[in-house]
Amino acid sequence: MQPLRVLELYSGIGGMHYALKESSVPAEVVAAVDVNTTANEIYKHNFPNTPLLPKTIEGMMLQDFDKLNFDMILMSPPCQPFTRIGLQGDVADPRTKSFLYILELLPSRLSKRPRFILLENVKGFETSAARDALLKTLRECDYRFQEFLISPTSLLFYWQIMEGFPMSESPDSLTVPHNNPTSSECEREKSGTIIFKLETEQELERKRIQDSQETVRRLQDFLQEDEEDLDQYLLPPKTLLRYALLMDVVQPSFRRSVCFTKGYGHYVEGTGSVLQACVDVELESVFKNLELLSEADKLKQLLQLKLRYFTPREIANLMGFPADFTFPKHISVKQQYRVLGNSLNVHVVSHLIRLMISK
Ligand code: SAH
Repeated sequence: MQPLRVLELYSGIGGMHYALKESSVPAEVVAAVDVNTTANEIYKHNFPNTPLLPKTIEGMMLQDFDKLNFDMILMSPPCQPFTRIGLQGDVADPRTKSFLYILELLPSRLSKRPRFILLENVKGFETSAARDALLKTLRECDYRFQEFLISPTSLLFYWQIMEGFPMSESPDSLTVPHNNPTSSECEREKSGTIIFKLETEQELERKRIQDSQETVRRLQDFLQEDEEDLDQYLLPPKTLLRYALLMDVVQPSFRRSVCFTKGYGHYVEGTGSVLQACVDVELESVFKNLELLSEADKLKQLLQLKLRYFTPREIANLMGFPADFTFPKHISVKQQYRVLGNSLNVHVVSHLIRLMISK
């Protein structure tokens, strides 16, 4: 088989490229496109031989696309217009413009239609007008397609794989082998009695169930014990005092965490879990009656847990990035969290690429 010529759109730090490599499908990324300078520096650092076009997709001319003569598109359009937390601007959001431009090119303007297309987005996309527009285009072009809402444990991600003629139209759910215990709890219901911290009985029960899935690896397998300066990741006292009750605290033996998003390490609530580095202390006993203590005692209690952020490398490990993925030296920790929060699970995509090719 001739290596497939792959166009990676919205390439970010190259999650799709790593997935392609992991899939072992004979392929070559003939161009990656992204406008974000930081993401592009990281991409170039790891894939120095891949042509990277630092421009907007809508700024590319039809001839630019035609020249690339690609067989496959891998793409992750911006998800903010579709997230539940966002304003759900959908097709009216300016960030969807480039995607609509791609849809415009597909049916008739490209001199050769790509044989395979894989699109990744968030839950919320499957009910959007952008998705309707995508399906309309795919039907016009006689693509066969399949949609998936995939949940590593509870977060749903939206995927679509496409090839030549129509097939299933309703989102399928797919169980993928994964060793990523990361899940988001954006979907959580806030109801029931609060047990400790601000968690309800239902929430705790759901977490207990996630944790009991023995096929999922423990967080400790992804930790960076060799990192010399883990102290820089400890939560500062001010953050502990203000946000203790809102944080999702996990221990190295756990098999779950919440999804790490791009504000991680900066905003605390809902951006990712924090690690309890000292497990000699019982979490429940620290949090019981915490509110009744003076600030000083409260802090003393909380400090015992040695709560720290996961390092960017640990998050990359959880997302399936290989050990040879690195950041250029000058990229700050905050920037690393940001770009990782935009990326994807490499193992999941690699599985989908194989599935798409095998159809
Ligand atoms: N899959 C990528 C991340 C995708 S996030 C990864 O593994 O890192 C969406 C990316 O699209 C961001 O990096 C953003 O900079 C880029 N982007 C958004 N709008 C764009 C546009 N109009 N043209 C090119 N890139 C764009």
